[in-house]
Amino acid sequence: MKNIGWIGLGNMGTPMIKNLVKAGFAVTVYNRSADKTKALAAEINIGIAGSPAELVEKSDVIITMLTDDAAVKSVYEGADGIFSAASRKDLIAVDMSTVAPETTQTLAALCREKGISYLDAPVAGSVKPAEDAQLVIMVGGEEAVYEKVKPVFDALGKASIYLGENGKANVAKLSVNLFLGIVVQGLSEAVIFARKNGLAAEALLPIINAAAVGSGLTKMKTENIIHNDFKPAFALKLLAKDIRLAKASGMDTPVGESLSATLQGALEKHGEEDMIAVLKYLSEK
Ligand code: NAP
Repeated sequence: MKNIGWIGLGNMGTPMIKNLVKAGFAVTVYNRSADKTKALAAEINIGIAGSPAELVEKSDVIITMLTDDAAVKSVYEGADGIFSAASRKDLIAVDMSTVAPETTQTLAALCREKGISYLDAPVAGSVKPAEDAQLVIMVGGEEAVYEKVKPVFDALGKASIYLGENGKANVAKLSVNLFLGIVVQGLSEAVIFARKNGLAAEALLPIINAAAVGSGLTKMKTENIIHNDFKPAFALKLLAKDIRLAKASGMDTPVGESLSATLQGALEKHGEEDMIAVLKYLSEK
């Protein structure tokens, strides 16, 4: 696993590539917007591919880190996509985006027909853990393929966890983000209640953080809440996408349904802001 083809230079993809290069992998990159690829090539030592198909010839493993299901499907099935290239029996494809289990199962089956091995490997952790190679990586697919790719995961995260067949890692990721969204809404509601009764967020949040209910997330978002800073680390529109995917996979529990309605309501005005803009949206209601 020396030669890595990478597709996707978003908030997550870019720092992840930097860690692979730092760890000594040879990385060739394709991105839809070519200006981003050129800018990264001016900064670190990467190769540039003009299309996903071009990566098939050059790579032992091709990794996608893209916005959503449609984006991932398009780099496989589109013109100049991975499937348009002459098939390579030893190729491994890994999708690290957050997508539906069904999307993984469809692409994995199409890959199998072409002799390509496929892993779903979504991540827990946002931009900072991506920069610090501290992601938690969930993996679905054949275990022997996971073992081959593990050194790549080791360069990107603090742990990779093998969960079973294709799609299982997507289920784990959507479960984690359902919980994440519920905590974001719960924290927002606690702050709104306190403010309504004359207690500032500055007073409340240190108590939450010191109590059993405090968490990495409540600590991470404390400064953002106090300073009304909604610059996106994990965009609200991406959390809304994940909860839509969870609903499509059968999520119909009471708090999840409420979260889903909140995110759909917040999407138009606050979709580009950080997920903690749920607080802003619920405060405006
Ligand atoms: P992002 O910044 O939106 O990444 C966008 C990337 O996808 C860009 O390279 C973009 O290309 C490409 N893209 C979008 N639509 C495309 C299409 N139709 N065809 C080809 N390329 C397309 O997303 P991100 O924050 O890096 O997240 C990537 C994935 O990881 C998402 O599934 C997200 O849910 C998940 N995730 C994110 C975080 C986080 O904190 N951000 C944490 C965990 C997991 P252009 O440059 O041309 O626009």
